[in-house]
Amino acid sequence: MSLVAIVGRPNVGKSTLFNRILGQRKALVEDFPGVTRDRHYADVTRYDKPFTLIDTGGFEPVSEDRLLVQMREQSQLAVEEADIILFVMDGREGLTPADHEVCGMLRRVEKPVLYVVNKVDSDKLEDLAGEFYALGVGELHTISAEHGRGVPDLVDALLDHLPAAPSDAEAEREIRLAVIGRPNVGKSSMVNRLLGYERVVANPQAGTTRDSVDTPFTYNRQRYVLIDTAGIRRKGKVSQKLEKFSVIQALKSMERAHVVLMVIDAVEGVTEQDLTVAGYAYEKGRGIILVVNKWDAVAKDQSTMKRYQEELERTFKFLSFAPVIFVSALTGQRVAKIMSEVEKVAAEFDRRIPTAMLNKVLAEAERSHQPPVFHGKRLKFFYMTQVETRPPTFVVFVNKAEGVHFSYQRYLANQLREAFGFSGVPIRIHYRDRE
Ligand code: GDP
Ligand code: GDP
Repeated sequence: MSLVAIVGRPNVGKSTLFNRILGQRKALVEDFPGVTRDRHYADVTRYDKPFTLIDTGGFEPVSEDRLLVQMREQSQLAVEEADIILFVMDGREGLTPADHEVCGMLRRVEKPVLYVVNKVDSDKLEDLAGEFYALGVGELHTISAEHGRGVPDLVDALLDHLPAAPSDAEAEREIRLAVIGRPNVGKSSMVNRLLGYERVVANPQAGTTRDSVDTPFTYNRQRYVLIDTAGIRRKGKVSQKLEKFSVIQALKSMERAHVVLMVIDAVEGVTEQDLTVAGYAYEKGRGIILVVNKWDAVAKDQSTMKRYQEELERTFKFLSFAPVIFVSALTGQRVAKIMSEVEKVAAEFDRRIPTAMLNKVLAEAERSHQPPVFHGKRLKFFYMTQVETRPPTFVVFVNKAEGVHFSYQRYLANQLREAFGFSGVPIRIHYRDRE
């Protein structure tokens, strides 16, 4: 999916525009404690060409003295990572030196940039845009993010730049892997280890051209693709050292991934950023494996691993189904275990459970834990079936779908997991009415 970045000075209306484009349709996600609610990126799916929208300003609070630095970083990120850039300026405040500077940067980019003058709240105010023509950027989109004026046209212009949605034929049976994590957790060391692993057969023509960012390989006769290998190995760029760069890169890689290797630094521990990224992987329905790296650098006794694991389970409550592996990319310790775990998770990701088995579990669940009464009527489950894989998705037909409260949904999900495992895979259960 294409990445669209909103860039601009603080207070020009980026987050207002972000919310306006998202519209009312907020993602419907179970509200687990630990998943950060406050977010600045979202999938926009209302259009025939879905895209991921990022409010680059949202990733950190602004301080006056760092304004220019932040603007530069932000634009740099957008330039490196985004497919399309929305550069927002403030029509009421007028053209500022910072706008000029960022504009100068964006002009050199070979990517579509849409120049937006915000806060033009009515036709009468169109004149406000006048001075922005001095930027010499051609078309200006005058909008009011607050009132919605001009936003549909802006979105149309945006969609014109997006490629058509890929067809399903492209979805072959290869497994795409993303290695994600904060800077310096050891991603690149791990990628090198994985690709150097004797049982991994890297595709010979892969990685030889500058443009090939992904590395295909084979393991136990299954085809895999390691996503954005070049990006992970690429070092030395300023943005590479930035925390938020890693978030954006992670979002981008996860977009195309089936299974995510979430790398955590054993010494540094888990951060808020890790939680945000993991939460996103969960929402996206990706297979997830938690890889605790630098295990060699931890002073250990017999119970260290167990304690660490429990600590992770507490922190990543919503990922209790994800396997945890303790490795050292430096020494190679247990790195071999990563691929065998990936293999298992990938199989679960693709797994299809026969309807008869599902209904046995459903009936058993209903028997051992009576469904609640809703509006004076006891809930009655009729039937359960698996409608999709990648991730496994189920539909349960029930007399009153809205009566199935969170706790009972949780219970049924747990029953499914108990019966079938689904290690490392978020499962989806939808409830539908049937009288
Ligand atoms: P950000 O810092 O760029 O994300 O800016 P915000 O979206 O937080 O907006 C900054 C301020 O500008 C807020 O007080 C908004 O209400 C206001 N604002 C945003 N869009 C418009 C608009 O179209 N017209 C007017 N008049 N105010 C707006
Ligand atoms: P990236 O930024 O996530 O790609 O991390 P790198 O792979 O570049 O590693 C960052 C630093 O951590 C380097 O100095 C590595 O040598 C070191 N490092 C990576 N893996 C390990 C490990 O398993 N143990 C130890 N002690 N250091 C490691």
